[in-house]
Amino acid sequence: MFSECVTVIECLLPRLNMGITEADLRWWLSGYDVSQVMIGAVASHSALQILHGAKLEGFRTLAIAVGADKRRLYSAFPGAEPDEWLMLDDYKDLMTQVEWLRKKQVIIIPHGSLVEYLGADNYSKLELPTFGNREILRWESSREKQRQWLENSGCKTPKVINDPRDIDSPVIVKYAGAKGGRGYFIARDYRDFRRNVNLDEEFTIQEYVLGCRYYLHFFFDPLAEDGYQVHGIKSNAGKTLGRLELMSMDRRDESNVDEFYKLGSLRDLREMALEPSFVVTGNMPVVLRESLLPEAFRMAEGVVSTSFELEENSRGMIGAFCLETIVTDKLEFRVFEISARIVAGSNPFVSGSSYSDINEKGMSTGRRISRCIKKAIETGNLNRILS
Ligand code: ATP
Repeated sequence: MFSECVTVIECLLPRLNMGITEADLRWWLSGYDVSQVMIGAVASHSALQILHGAKLEGFRTLAIAVGADKRRLYSAFPGAEPDEWLMLDDYKDLMTQVEWLRKKQVIIIPHGSLVEYLGADNYSKLELPTFGNREILRWESSREKQRQWLENSGCKTPKVINDPRDIDSPVIVKYAGAKGGRGYFIARDYRDFRRNVNLDEEFTIQEYVLGCRYYLHFFFDPLAEDGYQVHGIKSNAGKTLGRLELMSMDRRDESNVDEFYKLGSLRDLREMALEPSFVVTGNMPVVLRESLLPEAFRMAEGVVSTSFELEENSRGMIGAFCLETIVTDKLEFRVFEISARIVAGSNPFVSGSSYSDINEKGMSTGRRISRCIKKAIETGNLNRILS
């Protein structure tokens, strides 16, 4: 049994912010038989990779789904087929299944679909041991907070244009609620902006950065004491915080912008009443020219060390994260987004990547998560990588 003790008083303390506390986590884990841990994921997004990786690391697995067709789909991939299913009528019903899942010793691996299906608020209150640091989600889910975090980390971000009348070169207009790039538009000047904008919605105007998009998938292991160690800043100055690893890199196929050039210039397209959209339809593997790797690591290290300073006593980054970047022809990165969890762009690398294979053949991000959990169980540190 998990030996870490938790006082009854700690568990009875009122939860002022209604979020999950470290005391909650320790309380749940005190009831876990860690030799029986099950890795659980919502069957979507990157779950094939997560479940496949968990099986390779020797864990039992559980998938959560709505609708029998999901279950049928997974039967097409026996290497990732879970040992058990939790079938729901609605993903929000997961909130009422937490006791059952804890009895099964489940650790949830969060991904973009879980957060989207449950809603950020429900997710922050989900009473289940969850891989990674949920508190980071607040920073990830606000564009302004993300920008603050990235800039404090030494990453250059696309310029923000506060007054549309200042648009003097191409910009991308992003609506607050837009998902997966749907509904964004490009404007060349103020007139163009005015013609296309929906003023009823909240939006941000960013400089349109011309260059190649690279999505860098990193993993931060706070328990590892070797390899590329991240150094702390401010409250952690002088400390080494854990190991940073580059797992893989992708670029996205986006419909229809990636194929737009085939129809002519932006002017021709406007005449045809066509606007580019940025809806992700797939992912392709890439590698970066090696001379850009030191900068990629510098940015990722900055993001990790700053993550420990986001709030007082922040537990910082834990596990997988992705820097979404554009590299210009001056060989400079602009980081336009950060995801503090496994991203679907890591899916081309179920059997490893040009980077992860150098260290261990066949290591996907999904498998790396389970490896981290396995090591934490062996060393009695499970509470340090879950929330
Ligand atoms: P997701 O959450 O799925 O990552 P999203 O809705 O948050 O998507 P972004 O990732 O911000 O959208 O952007 C979607 C796409 O728009 C990017 O993949 C990229 O092609 C393009 N894009 C975003 N910001 C810029 C920018 N400043 N300059 C040029 N292109 C951009």
